[in-house]
Amino acid sequence: MTHVIELQGVAKRYGGTGAPALGPIGLTVAEGEALAVTGPSGSGKSTLLNLIAGLDKPTEGSVTVAGRRIDQLSEHALARFRREQIGMVFQFFNLLDDLSVADNIQLPAQLTGTARKKAAVRAGELMELLGISKHARAYPGRLSGGERQRVAVARALINRPALLLADEPTGALDTASGQDVRELLLDLHRGGQTIVLVTHDLALAQSCAGRTIHLVDGHLAADTLAQAVR
Ligand code: ADP
Repeated sequence: MTHVIELQGVAKRYGGTGAPALGPIGLTVAEGEALAVTGPSGSGKSTLLNLIAGLDKPTEGSVTVAGRRIDQLSEHALARFRREQIGMVFQFFNLLDDLSVADNIQLPAQLTGTARKKAAVRAGELMELLGISKHARAYPGRLSGGERQRVAVARALINRPALLLADEPTGALDTASGQDVRELLLDLHRGGQTIVLVTHDLALAQSCAGRTIHLVDGHLAADTLAQAVR
C-alpha cells in the first residue's frame, strides 16, 4: 500500500523544555484515504497540519509526504514541494479579491510554470465539476460563502496535488453551505483524492472521512475507522 503521509516519531516544541505541543506521534495515511483530525482547541491539530504541509518543521522525527522526506528540505525546496504536491483549503477561503474566479483558480498553475492555455482548460474542467462555471468571470466578493469555498477547492486541486489539506473548511459557512462543502469533499474522496481534514465538526468528520484521529494534549487519543466508507 502506498502511503501519502508517513510521520515517524514526530514531536514539535515551540521552545522551552515543557511537554511538546505535539507528539511524539507516528502516523501513516494511505493513498486515497480521507482522514479527519479532531480534538479540542490547543490539542495540536494545526501543528500537525502545518508539519504535514511543510509550513513548519518538527523538533524530532521524520515527515515524509508523497514519497519525499520534507522535514529537511530548504525553504525554497519546500515552497516548490507545496505548490506541486499539496492543495490547501482554509476556513476563510483566502481568495484574492481583485482576481476573477477563473484567475484565482489558475494562479497556482501559473506559479508552477504550467502553460496558460493548459491551466485555463484544467480550471474550466474544475469549475464544471464543482458547479461554478457561471461565476468564472465574477470576483469572489460577489459570491456566497459556499461558492467561495468551491472556488478555493478548485484552486487547491488545479495542480493535481497528491494531498488535499482542509483546515475547518465549513467553519465559516451556514448549515446549508456547510452541507454542500461536505458533499463536495465526500465526492472528491470517492474519486480517490487523499484528504486530511481538520475540523471541530464531528458531523463533517463522520460524513466524509473514512478514518478519524482524535488529539488530546498533542497525543493520539483515538484512531477510528468509520463503520463503512460511503
Ligand atoms: P489546535 O489547532 O488543536 O487548536 P495548535 O496546534 O494550534 O492546536 O496548538 C497546540 C499547542 O501549541 C497549544 O498549546 C498552542 O498554544 C501551542 N502553539 C501553537 N502554535 C504556537 C506557536 N507558534 N508558538 C508557541 N506555541 C504555539
